[in-house]
Amino acid sequence: MPELYELRCRECGKLWGNAPRSFCEECFSPLEVTYDYNAIRASLRRDQLAARPANIWRYAELLPLPEGRIPTLPVGGTPLLPAPRLARDWGLGSALYIKNDAVCFPTLSFKDRVVAVALSAAKRFGFQVVGCSSTGNLANSVAAQSVREGLDAWVFIPSDLEAAKILGTSIYGAKVARIAGNYDHVNRLCAQIADKFRWGLVNVNLRPYYAEGSKTVGYEIAEQLGWRLPDNVVVPMAGGSLITKIAKAFRELTELGWVDPKPVRFFGAQATGCSPISTAVKRGLERFEPQKPSTIARSLAIGNPADGPYAMKCMRETGGWAEDASDPEIVAGIRKLGETEGIFTETAGGVTVAAAEKLVRQGRIPQGDTTVLCITGNGLKTTDALTAEFPPTEAIAPRLDAFEAYLEGRLASAAASK
Ligand SMILES: *Cc1c(COP(=O)(O)O)cnc(C)c1O
Ligand SMILES: [Zn+2]
Repeated sequence: MPELYELRCRECGKLWGNAPRSFCEECFSPLEVTYDYNAIRASLRRDQLAARPANIWRYAELLPLPEGRIPTLPVGGTPLLPAPRLARDWGLGSALYIKNDAVCFPTLSFKDRVVAVALSAAKRFGFQVVGCSSTGNLANSVAAQSVREGLDAWVFIPSDLEAAKILGTSIYGAKVARIAGNYDHVNRLCAQIADKFRWGLVNVNLRPYYAEGSKTVGYEIAEQLGWRLPDNVVVPMAGGSLITKIAKAFRELTELGWVDPKPVRFFGAQATGCSPISTAVKRGLERFEPQKPSTIARSLAIGNPADGPYAMKCMRETGGWAEDASDPEIVAGIRKLGETEGIFTETAGGVTVAAAEKLVRQGRIPQGDTTVLCITGNGLKTTDALTAEFPPTEAIAPRLDAFEAYLEGRLASAAASK
């Protein structure tokens, strides 16, 4: 029986079967996974999903899983939360939602989705060693999930990553190689390593399979909206893959007849200190110019994004736009989400909130629309960015009169700052 999916060149369309490769050897364009949608439509109905557990594997037929593989880790299935207080803060009367991957299982970022799918491919191709080049979250997820798969992990990171992200990788026993350079240096090294060693690097030679995991964000959003597509989606961009894969998920659901066709605008968010994609969109450039990253949003600090051209196309063709956020705006965005919706996101989420606020103020995200903000990572991993915001307060003697004096002082200073 022929397989229901295989690799296809995104430019020349040549089919490459299934193998650990990411580029077309004819035209050097990236490969992606393509499916036999007629076979899927014939074998699976939307209402069959309801009986399955709420995690990414409920969409197994739409993922490149090896025949007979039954994954056990309940990855994804994160909440889609209404955000009425944030909407009010922005003067937005309409339906605003947070897709909250700050609580994604097992390592608290959306990268758990891509790693789960990539490791299934790694098993299929017989790799014993897996790895990645990472801006932090991918490292955490590869390290954690490889333990459960019985695989050895080698993780390559820029040397300046947040301490919590390095510790949150080492704890799983992964080998961590800190590289004196930025992500783009690390990634180039990993391409050479994948050539030289028989290792499965999830975002290098397994990249087409890895990227498919991001589609599950889109499937979940549509299903959680009652099998409807939103009007707008705001997505943080590093390599630019996630935004294009949410768009692919919506196209697939439409093609399967599981949702009604509907135009969805895609908005990308970057940090001002690393904004090759958003700058190109805002300036109307044909191609993005690579940048040297300098931002507290380390998880988004990719100066030469592999999927940048496709992300730009996605925003342009859907009538979306891009925005970026400075370091102080990122911090303000993190605080805003915490204070309005009770969600603690990492710097990438601060980028998303701050960029979305600009898009609302510009009128690009209109009143009356259904809008989803993708919050992709957890704030406990990037507390370094916030310590200056919250200096320790004075300690109060354990006596009621001391507390009353303290309370009076607080009330007085609150009144003074009004
Ligand atoms: C990796 C990452 C992104 C962006 O992913 P791409 O697919 O590379 O654009 C967004 N948010 C967080 C928290 C990430 O770790
Ligand atoms: Zn090609």
